[in-house]
Amino acid sequence: MPTDWSKKVEKERVLEKEVAVVEGVELRGMWNRMFEQRVIWDYETGILDQITSLPGGESLGYCYQCGKCVGVCPVDIVGNYGPRKIYRKAQLGTDLFSDPDLWLCTTCMNCLRVCPKEVNMVEIMPAMRAFAINSGRPVPPELQKAFENIARYGNPMGESPRRRADWVKTAGVPVTVLPQSRRPVDVLLYVGSYPSYHPRGQDAARAMVRVLDRLGVDFGILGPEEKEDGDSVRMAGERGLFEMLAEDNIRTFARYQFERIVVFGPHEYNAFVRAYPRFAAENGFDWSYQVLHYTQFLASMLDRLQPLLVRPLEYTVTFHDPCYLGRHHNEYEAPRRLLRAIPGLKMVEMFRCRENGYCCGGGGGGMWLDSFTSGYTRRRLSEQRVLEAIEVGAEVLAVCCPYEVSRFEDAVKSTGNDGRLVVRDIIELIAESMFGGDTK
Ligand code: SF4
Ligand code: SF4
Repeated sequence: MPTDWSKKVEKERVLEKEVAVVEGVELRGMWNRMFEQRVIWDYETGILDQITSLPGGESLGYCYQCGKCVGVCPVDIVGNYGPRKIYRKAQLGTDLFSDPDLWLCTTCMNCLRVCPKEVNMVEIMPAMRAFAINSGRPVPPELQKAFENIARYGNPMGESPRRRADWVKTAGVPVTVLPQSRRPVDVLLYVGSYPSYHPRGQDAARAMVRVLDRLGVDFGILGPEEKEDGDSVRMAGERGLFEMLAEDNIRTFARYQFERIVVFGPHEYNAFVRAYPRFAAENGFDWSYQVLHYTQFLASMLDRLQPLLVRPLEYTVTFHDPCYLGRHHNEYEAPRRLLRAIPGLKMVEMFRCRENGYCCGGGGGGMWLDSFTSGYTRRRLSEQRVLEAIEVGAEVLAVCCPYEVSRFEDAVKSTGNDGRLVVRDIIELIAESMFGGDTK
C-alpha cells in the first residue's frame, strides 16, 4: 500500500511556484516545493539577544550549528568547547557572562577559518568579556592580577619599569637606548614585556641584538619608556586598559625618530598593524609606521644573513606557527625561510601546522589563565603541542612568539619530556649558527 503523503503535509504551509529556475534548471510545480519555516522547539533567546546586541557580538547569531568549528578548536581538542557549543549553551539559558566558557577561548581564529557563516570569535569574545568586566562579573584572579600589574608597572609580571632594559647590560654588543641617546635610528626594536623581563625571553632578546649588530642594522630600543602593547589585554576584555597603553605608547613613539618598527612578538604585531591604527584614527593620533615581525625583517635581508650562518646545526626541528602571525596575518613563510637558511638543520612539520596550526594557549588573555583553564581541560594546550612535536621526532621545537618559550618549556617538563625536546626561539637558533655556542 503506497504512503498517502498528502495526509502528512500541512497544505497551507506549502510554498510552491509554477516554475522556479535553480542553477539554470527549470523546476516546475511540486519539484520546487518548499515548506514555511516552522518552530521545531522553543528555546531561550535572552542571553543570545544580549550577546548579539553587543558591538562585535552580532555574528554569534549567524551560527547554524553545523559543527565545523568544534573539530578544529584547540580547546575542544583537550576539553569541551567551540562556538557551536557556546551558542547551544546560550540557547539553553546559561548566563555566559558568568560562565567559565567566557575565559577559555584563546582567540586563535581557527574556527573562523572554517565557519561557513563567519561567526567571529575574535570579535565576539572580547565584546562579551568587556561586557562582563564592565558589569562587575568576576574575573579569574590570575587574569585580574595581570591587569593590575600592567596598569601599575606597564608589564604583566609586576617588574619595575626602570629595569626594563637591564638585559642589555649582558648583551655583549652596544644597544642604543633611545631615551638616553636621542639620536634618529633606522629601526625601533619594540622588545615587549617577556623578552625584557623573563629569563628565557631575555636570552632571545640578547640573541636578537647580537644578530642585528652583526648585520649592521641601525636600531634602538625604548628601554624604560616602553610599555606592554595591550593587545592581549584588549582580547581579554579590558578595553580601558588597552586604550591607556595604546595612548601612552603612541605618545612615546612620537617623541623619537625612526623609519620602522620591528617587533619580537605576533601579539605586538597585531597591536601595531591592526589595533593601534584604528585607535589612533578614532582618537586623533598620527599612526603611519611600517611594522614588521622580526622574522619578516630578517627574511627580507636573507642575502646578507645567510652567508653569516656558518655553523651547521644538526637538529631535527619542528616549527610552531603562532596563531597571531599565521592565521591572523597570513605569515607562514618568513619563519620557515629563516629556519631553512640554517645549514644542517632538518625541518619536519607537525600534523597541525600552518593554517591549521595548534594554539599554545597564550592568546586572548590565556597567557595569564593557565591555572584557571587547567580546571576545564584534560591537559594544557601547550602540553598537547609538545606531544605533537615529540610525535614527529623533533629534537627542537622552534618558536617566534615570546609567550611560547616559557609555556612550552613548562610543558616539556610536565609531560616528562625533559632532555628529549628543547624549545628555542628562531632568533636563538640563528645566533647559534652565526656565533656558535648555545645561546640558551
Ligand atoms: S562552524 Fe560556524 S556555523 Fe558552524 S557550528 Fe561553528 S560557529 Fe556555528
Ligand atoms: S577562536 Fe580558537 S579557541 Fe576560540 S573558539 Fe575559535 S577555535 Fe576555539
